[in-house]
Amino acid sequence: MDLQQRLQSIQAQLQEHSPARLLAVSKHVSADRIRAAHVLDLRHFGENYVQEALGKMVELADLEDICWHFIGRIQRNKTREIARHFDWVESVDREILVQRLDRERTGLPPLQVLIEVAASGEESKGGCAPSDVPMLAEAIVASTNLRLRGLMALVHPNPEQAPKNFAQLAELYKQLQKQFTNQRVDTLSMGTSGDYPEALAHGATEIRLGTVLFGTRPKEH
Ligand SMILES: *Cc1c(COP(=O)(O)O)cnc(C)c1O
Repeated sequence: MDLQQRLQSIQAQLQEHSPARLLAVSKHVSADRIRAAHVLDLRHFGENYVQEALGKMVELADLEDICWHFIGRIQRNKTREIARHFDWVESVDREILVQRLDRERTGLPPLQVLIEVAASGEESKGGCAPSDVPMLAEAIVASTNLRLRGLMALVHPNPEQAPKNFAQLAELYKQLQKQFTNQRVDTLSMGTSGDYPEALAHGATEIRLGTVLFGTRPKEH
């Protein structure tokens, strides 16, 4: 199957859960292949590595409606480049990052932010504890240049564990919406190539797909 055929089958599933959005995860995918995906009407792309992403942004600078999401671990010394070059950051998991991203976004339109939650309980993989979400959310809402949009998570790869994680995330998201009725909290980003139908069934409003769109990646560092 080529990209177009794979997209059609995914889009049919998304339509049943509209308005769920497809984020095309393009780490290790060349600028040319991103351009081909853009021709097929994909607009949202997720990147994990800052330097790799900046190179592609330069090559694709003519695509004015492309929307870049940072979804990788955030190193403190990279917050400036992330704040200046991305439209969304989905992996904010500690308060120091809120302060830095806010300061470094000055002078640009607001940066759209998701809090990454360690839903699987494996905090080594990134993400804050679920109990930290209200405090981090307060900090984002109090900032000047960041907009709180919701939650992002990777769930446990074990298919017996994943549905429980998705349900917990959906509940956490509902609480966040209740906490901030005056904010546009409209994004629950969960589900990847291996588990996105389950994530959609649990109310995901964004799924992040790499492998099923672009094929397997070279081994990650
Ligand atoms: C790589 C990555 C994905 C995509 O994973 P696939 O299994 O290739 O669909 C989604 N979310 C995050 C945070 C990632 O790092």
